[in-house]
Amino acid sequence: MIGAMALRRDIGSTTVFALEDGAGTFFEPRQQAFPAATAALWQCADERDPAAVTAGGQWRLRFRCFAIRLESGQTILVDAGIGPTRPPSGWTPVPGRLPEELAAAGIAPADVTAVVLTHLHTDHVGWAVVDAAPYFPRARYVLQRAEVEAVRAVNPGLRRFLLKPLTSAGLVQLVDGTERLGPGLSTVATPGHTPGHQSVLLSDGAETLLLTGDLLVHAVQLVDPDIGFRYEWDRTAARRSRVELLADLRRVGGVLATAHLSEPFVPA
Ligand SMILES: [Zn+2]
Repeated sequence: MIGAMALRRDIGSTTVFALEDGAGTFFEPRQQAFPAATAALWQCADERDPAAVTAGGQWRLRFRCFAIRLESGQTILVDAGIGPTRPPSGWTPVPGRLPEELAAAGIAPADVTAVVLTHLHTDHVGWAVVDAAPYFPRARYVLQRAEVEAVRAVNPGLRRFLLKPLTSAGLVQLVDGTERLGPGLSTVATPGHTPGHQSVLLSDGAETLLLTGDLLVHAVQLVDPDIGFRYEWDRTAARRSRVELLADLRRVGGVLATAHLSEPFVPA
């Protein structure tokens, strides 16, 4: 059981809330998902994240978003979960419960001023558009230009169901690499999992937090950042992004805010 204090983290005057949209088991054996992982690595990974493996040896994962509350009162959401219904083409196991999680954190959808979508996979954009309308009506939706330009390759269905309604409402903000979101807060390009994957970096000078998106999806990639995930678009680029950024974070004693690990906040 994760305590309430483990679900939020303060970096200077900024608060980060972990919001769990759902949890479930992965659709294929984990050895197939991470083909290079050895038995010794799995053992280390299971010690690091014991709740991520079922008694039967399946990968149990969370589907998590984060809300960042700035001192100015602005609220930035990083990712939008699996969404209200299981998408017909999707693989996520359960309908999401982000609205309740937001309410528990005291956040209404209209309070959200920006939604950073780390990438265009269905388990990260689920609540962005609901019933063809932006679910966060006052937010700008921040995406890397490279990701939007690659949407046909990443997930063609999202052109119609996600990008069109957001673009029609004038809410899409395309960025290239690093974009400042607030004091000490910026996007960082982490290509590989998808062509325009991005993460979010928060630092007050003393503490650094990286909201990873799918830069890594399992503790086995923390134990050994070289380990690729089968569903990475470009495994070489994904590995480079992961190895370099984790090394930077480890140098400064940084913390990760992860989408899919059992605990939302873990040391890099
Ligand atoms: Zn994911």
